[in-house]
Amino acid sequence: MNVPFEIVYRKVKYARLEFKGLQLLVILPFGVKDPSKVLEKGKVWIERQWKIIQEAVKQVESQYSFMIFGEPYTIEYINNGYSRVSFTDKRIYLSYGDPKSYLKIHCQLKWILKVKVESIIGDYSLRFKFKPNRVFIWKQKTKWGSCSSKGNITLNLKLVCLPEHMVRYVVFHELTHLKFKGHSREFWRTINMEFPNHKELERELHKYWFITEILFQNLTYYPQLKSTRYVGGHGMSSP
Ligand SMILES: [Zn+2]
Repeated sequence: MNVPFEIVYRKVKYARLEFKGLQLLVILPFGVKDPSKVLEKGKVWIERQWKIIQEAVKQVESQYSFMIFGEPYTIEYINNGYSRVSFTDKRIYLSYGDPKSYLKIHCQLKWILKVKVESIIGDYSLRFKFKPNRVFIWKQKTKWGSCSSKGNITLNLKLVCLPEHMVRYVVFHELTHLKFKGHSREFWRTINMEFPNHKELERELHKYWFITEILFQNLTYYPQLKSTRYVGGHGMSSP
C-alpha cells in the first residue's frame, strides 16, 4: 500500500504520524530529513487508518452529499435565493453568488445540533443528575467532544451528521466526564449502563470522523472550482 503523505516540521522530540482530515502527516523534528523510519514503524497503524478512510470515501456518494442526523441530504447550488438547509426537501441550498454561503449553513447546522443536544441533555440530567454548566459547539479539529474542569462541555459541529443514537452516546460520554475525569473503571461502568455497545460505537465514531471530514469538505466546494478543489477528497486513492 502506498499512502501519500506530507512532511511537516515541528518543534517535537520524536517523529510521529497523524491524520489531518484525510491527509497523512509525518511530523518530524527539525533536522531530521528521512521519514522512512517512522513510516516503517507506523506501517500497520497507517494501513489500518487508510482502510477506514477508503471505506469512508466509498460511503459518501458524491461531492453533493451531506448528512443530517444520519439522513442523506443533497447539496444544490442555486442562482437565486438564500443559502439554507431545507428539512422538507432534504436539501442544502448554497447560493452561487454569496461568499458567506458556508458560514450561513454552518450557523444553521450549529443551531440544529444545539436544539438536539439540549433535548438529549434534558433527558439525561433528569435521569442521571448530570448537568453541564455551559455547552459550546465548534467545528473542532481533533475531538468529538470534551469536558472542562469548570463543568463546560464542548461538542464538535460534525456531530450534526451522525445518527441520533451516536450523538446521544457522545453527549452522554461527555456528561459522564462531569463526574469522572478520566476513563476509569467507574467511568466505563456508568457508560455501560446506558450504552452496553460502547466499544462498537467508538469504532463507528472513528469511521464517522473521516466521513464527516468529507461531508464538510463538500460544503466548501463550489462547482466552478471542481478540478482544483476536490483533489484531496475522493481523489485520494493510492498512486
Ligand atoms: Zn472521554
